[in-house]
Amino acid sequence: MKTINLLGSTGSIGVQTLDVAREHGYKIEALTAYSNVDIIENQIREFRPQYAALVDEKAAADLKVRVSDLPVKVLSGMEGVCFCASEGKGEITLNAVVGMAGLKPTLDAIGAGKTIALANKETLVAGGKLVTNAAKKNGVSILPVDSEHSAIFQCLLGAPSNKALKRIILTASGGPFFGKTKEELEKVTLSDALKHPSWSMGQKITIDSATMFNKGLELIEAVWLFDVSADMIDIVVHRESIVHSLIEYDDNSVIAQLGHPDMRLPIQFAITYPERYPSPEKQLDLWEIGKLSFYKPDYETFPCMDICRAAIRKGGLYPAAVNCANEEANLLFRQGKISFLDIPRLIAEAAEELNDKQDYSLEDVYNTDSFMREIVRKLAKI
Ligand code: NAD
Ligand code: MG
Repeated sequence: MKTINLLGSTGSIGVQTLDVAREHGYKIEALTAYSNVDIIENQIREFRPQYAALVDEKAAADLKVRVSDLPVKVLSGMEGVCFCASEGKGEITLNAVVGMAGLKPTLDAIGAGKTIALANKETLVAGGKLVTNAAKKNGVSILPVDSEHSAIFQCLLGAPSNKALKRIILTASGGPFFGKTKEELEKVTLSDALKHPSWSMGQKITIDSATMFNKGLELIEAVWLFDVSADMIDIVVHRESIVHSLIEYDDNSVIAQLGHPDMRLPIQFAITYPERYPSPEKQLDLWEIGKLSFYKPDYETFPCMDICRAAIRKGGLYPAAVNCANEEANLLFRQGKISFLDIPRLIAEAAEELNDKQDYSLEDVYNTDSFMREIVRKLAKI
């Protein structure tokens, strides 16, 4: 029986992680979220963790009163989240926080020797070198929860090394605007962008999927997780979201992982690895699917993939810069303050303002975050 610290428990991945925990009887040591008191209270009553934390101080005070009949210790602020990530008996810290706010708790959990199950891709994008160096130093494994990276991880199992690996092929659903022209994208609304064809996810990643910035983030995530260069990674649009990604060896043999689009499988595998157990995911009967289709991405209409590729090639703080600029632009779009096509434009323009440092610290990443957010707002005239 595994014991889990779950960060971001009230979100899309958090709730599905608890589905998996319920199914297999995993113990939850800690639960954290930003401010949703109603959901986390119900989760505490069901899973009886030792610790819980809400970032929002007022919400945490409210929660403390509501669960005062239980032995759970309620903490607040980012310190509370970091405590839940790293203290206590949880062997695995599953990070399902959205955005680079997840970076510090990940580093603290690594420092405490916890196995990391990582959904929070922004952590690896903003602080890839810090996270991977800390993991090496502490002998900690980082297991991917993102479906594409779980697929690659599964395809690589059994390979003696990365030596004969020639290419990683990331699949992308293409999002709600696949096949659209730039002119057609000029007028799209928030509700158009939130209509994802195959996955039901939190709002930030759903918008990232519409701009294809999500695939750019995943490219950088793959560089850090699998220790490959950005040039070894290709992207293919696959509308059905059945093939979750592929790898290619020197002899041109291509290996893929397939399944229905259901995050509970990659979540479960990150927890049970190296074991496998029955999953609530539906069995894949290919005759029901019939056809699988693949297309080359439209890099001109969706420039975010190339923005991210250029950022990881430059290295240093560039990946953090484009991630943070995107976090701000994504938010401004959700608030109705900028248009859909402003998102890539603002990210590209903001990244040009970066004063890079190839050898960076956590503080440099935070400074880049506030600087980029400010530049994006300035460029957007907000
Ligand atoms: P979500 O918005 O549904 O949930 C985010 C969770 O993080 C919530 O519990 C929220 O309370 C908490 N949170 C928000 N801001 C916080 C902050 N500043 N500090 C601490 N906690 C905070 O998001 P999601 O869709 O579950 O995605 C979570 C992460 O997983 C993202 O990095 C996303 O890219 C990644 N991911 C999600 C999916 C998916 O299917 N949803 C798939 C692959 C990867
Ligand atoms: Mg993904």
